[in-house]
Amino acid sequence: MKRIVVLGAGFGGLEATLELERAFRHQPGIEILLVSEQNYFLFTPLLPQIASSYINPRHIVQPVRDIRGRRRFDFRRDDVRAIDPAGRRVALASGALEYDHLVVALGSRTDYFGIPGAREHTWDFKSLEDAVVLRERILDICEHADHVADPAVRRQMLTFVVVGGGYTGVELVSEMRDFMFHYVAERYRGIPRADIRLVVLEAAPEILRGVHPKLAQHAAKRLRVEGIEIRLGAKVTRCFPDGIEINGSEIISAETLIWTAGVRAHPLVEALPGPHDRIGRVLVNERLQLEGHPEIFVVGDSAAASSAKDAPRVAPVAIAQGKLAARNIAHRERGEPLEGYQYISQGALVSLGMNYAVVDVAGLKLSGYFAWLFWNAVHLYKLVGLKKQLQVAMDWSLAAIFPRDASIVRRPRRCKLCGTDEAS
Ligand SMILES: Cc1cc2nc3c(=O)[nH]c(=O)nc-3n(C[C@H](O)[C@H](O)[C@H](O)COP(=O)(O)OP(=O)(O)OC[C@H]3O[C@@H](n4cnc5c(N)ncnc54)[C@H](O)[C@@H]3O)c2cc1C
Repeated sequence: MKRIVVLGAGFGGLEATLELERAFRHQPGIEILLVSEQNYFLFTPLLPQIASSYINPRHIVQPVRDIRGRRRFDFRRDDVRAIDPAGRRVALASGALEYDHLVVALGSRTDYFGIPGAREHTWDFKSLEDAVVLRERILDICEHADHVADPAVRRQMLTFVVVGGGYTGVELVSEMRDFMFHYVAERYRGIPRADIRLVVLEAAPEILRGVHPKLAQHAAKRLRVEGIEIRLGAKVTRCFPDGIEINGSEIISAETLIWTAGVRAHPLVEALPGPHDRIGRVLVNERLQLEGHPEIFVVGDSAAASSAKDAPRVAPVAIAQGKLAARNIAHRERGEPLEGYQYISQGALVSLGMNYAVVDVAGLKLSGYFAWLFWNAVHLYKLVGLKKQLQVAMDWSLAAIFPRDASIVRRPRRCKLCGTDEAS
């Protein structure tokens, strides 16, 4: 019996597993095992809508066992602790696991670039839990600010700084704007709209790097018209509990700093042998194999493929690479030549909140309401499972008629005003 192990049930790992299933469906003697720390697949593109209370957190995750259905692959929820390429085994929290082929799809983690205070004083925005915790934080701040008499203190409490003007930062701040200006300003009587300040800090001269420059400029203009401050060339140099320093001089006072600025490869990927790029991704050949270990394939945010080093760290790349790695494993088993990975851009879709998006797909550049409808349709289609598609479609429809649900269901874990901190 040969064992193929896939690490990570994100976009790359899940796609690799499903493709392996297809390739080996009628072949006995092959065991396919997917290992991941979470028992669900997370649809990250809708995370900003969790933070703004637009959709329900459960609606963008799909349990792996539901995705599996009647397929034969095995799933183990476990924490990967180490990868030993020489011994062809991985160390899991529950013990060692040997493999014949390995697909590494462990994603990425946040990079704070060593900026003093960034790790300690900013809110991360990568996981479902991050989005849920940030949502609670926003609501918690509003509850406190609602009865603060001093306008200066209130304004500081209601200043939200998003570090990073990439897709995530822009989509998040747009969602926050909808929530703060259209829900909070209308329902919290002690919060005047003028006291709410949303700031995006971007070190580069433009936001939305990778999007066509005209669309990126259009997006920046639109955000400014909507009341969001976009600070370009603003390099964060220090973070404090109650503010942030930019370019070594200017301080912006703010109670909530959100970090969407940088990513690095997963630590287990950084520890793999062979060359790595500047953000720790392992360099793999065009067939996605690790140097000196043709049985190990690395995909998605973890990989820098020699044929596509500049491919962005986005879901379509992880999906395409996951599929290709699975097909190449099947080719190896059958003694066939392996395929090479070529990056083909699928364009860009950026939501700027309710009723507005910018879209650059197949040479078509579109902004406004129809672009937003297109954004919604694509994301709904890409969600895994009819149940989740219906749930999200229902959330969106209800939000057009009823107010958002701003209940805090869990006591905030980090709030100096409530007297709680991370440890309590
Ligand atoms: C907030 C946000 C918004 C985004 N929006 C978009 C978007 O709109 N469009 C787009 O194309 N891309 C978007 N992305 C990027 C996209 O999510 C990634 O490029 C994609 O998820 C990469 O796929 P992956 O398989 O490499 O990693 P991931 O999908 O991150 O999967 C990694 C998997 O590994 C598991 N794992 C990690 N460590 C361990 C461990 N030690 N043990 C066991 N399992 C482990 C994780 O739980 C996860 O299941 C967004 C990302 C974020 C964070």
